[in-house]
Amino acid sequence: MIIYKFGGTSVGSPERMHKVATLLTRDQEEKIVVLSAVSGTTNQLVKIGDLLLAGRRQEAQEEISQLKQHYEQFISALYTTPKGLETGEKYVQQFFHNLETLAEIPDFNEGNEKTVLATGELISTHLFHSYLEDKGIKARLLPALEFMRLDELGEPDIDFISEKLTSFLNEFDEDSLFITQGFICRNDRGQTDNLKRGGSDYSASLIGAAIRAREVQIWTDIDGMHNNDPRIVDHTFPVASLTFDEAAELAYFGAKILHPASIQPAQKYDIPVWLKSTLNEDAYGTLIGQSTEHGEIKAVAAKDNITAIKIKSTRMLLAYGFLRRIFEIFEKYATPIDMITTSEVAVSLTIDQDEHLSSIIHELENFGSVEVDHDMTIICIVGSKILESNGMAQRIINALENIPIRMISLGGSKNNVSVLLDTRYKNQALQQLNTGVFAISE
Ligand code: ASP
Ligand code: MG
Repeated sequence: MIIYKFGGTSVGSPERMHKVATLLTRDQEEKIVVLSAVSGTTNQLVKIGDLLLAGRRQEAQEEISQLKQHYEQFISALYTTPKGLETGEKYVQQFFHNLETLAEIPDFNEGNEKTVLATGELISTHLFHSYLEDKGIKARLLPALEFMRLDELGEPDIDFISEKLTSFLNEFDEDSLFITQGFICRNDRGQTDNLKRGGSDYSASLIGAAIRAREVQIWTDIDGMHNNDPRIVDHTFPVASLTFDEAAELAYFGAKILHPASIQPAQKYDIPVWLKSTLNEDAYGTLIGQSTEHGEIKAVAAKDNITAIKIKSTRMLLAYGFLRRIFEIFEKYATPIDMITTSEVAVSLTIDQDEHLSSIIHELENFGSVEVDHDMTIICIVGSKILESNGMAQRIINALENIPIRMISLGGSKNNVSVLLDTRYKNQALQQLNTGVFAISE
């Protein structure tokens, strides 16, 4: 079994859905196809949910009818027969009727909002499935809300997912093409929930892990994970292979192509993950797996909206237990720390959630003077042999000539060097790294 996942833009228009269907019928492999919502839909549903939470029902209803019009247009170009179109119309009526009913709930709450958000993936899969049937392609719709479940800690319950999914696959063992929803799930109380924005990649990886699939293929609009951010830097190229650790690091530190959590389930069961492009389906893409060959520097990614905090104290001198007390403050406010560097009298660290910043600073001030820098960027340079290769740190530092570096972290893991700088210098830093580290001429 192979898991295919298509993102919002890959199913974003009738033409793109047609293309996905062609791609899926190139061979006879058994497949589970995980779909996101049609692009733009989840954003629109978030807007609707927020309006309803704010009690602005009238505006929400207007947004709902706008979205409905979009789908009415969408289906008019999707199907090949009048019967297909009739089925599509039935689904659009049904799902929008559900939305309109939800919008009438007097005390609309966050749980209701999750039901609103789930509509996106439910519509895209129903439309795509009925389109396949209309074309005479046999496929089976699997309801994610019946197998994708979170445990009491809000983490995917892999045993439950595995058991349920396996029993579905056994029940429909004459089928070889399955369609299901990404993103959506139920919580441990059985209520509709989701795997957070961008979570369809995570769904695909969980499904792959749950049934020990042969591989997972994530199809997007770009031909793999690039060595640098193609929106900022010219002459980037797709990286042919990454280890799971390298890919996780890049996804966490800003590579938009993959949801950061999605590596872990595949890594746990050693299921290769391919990144492929629907716009260039014959391109090799990127293979993420255990046993890829190790290069030096594989790629660079950047993460914005970082806050740096420096705590300076002579009490730190020769003291022990100092860091523990500092970390406890971050723990108390459930705020993860990304980078950390220390000297004998100071410690600098970074966070990317500043909700509790003022309380954190207030408590840190008991230890010494505290300085805060906002609008910082972490640039993460990834490659599993980065520490072993002679002169690599030198090359990175040289490449960043003329750019003030606020922090640098090397040796934390054997496959990354992280550099913190003011976001103003980000583009320049990414460009200079491209020429200086990957030896690409401008
Ligand atoms: N539709 C959801 C989102 O836009 C999930 C996904 O596309 O991965 O966040
Ligand atoms: Mg995505």
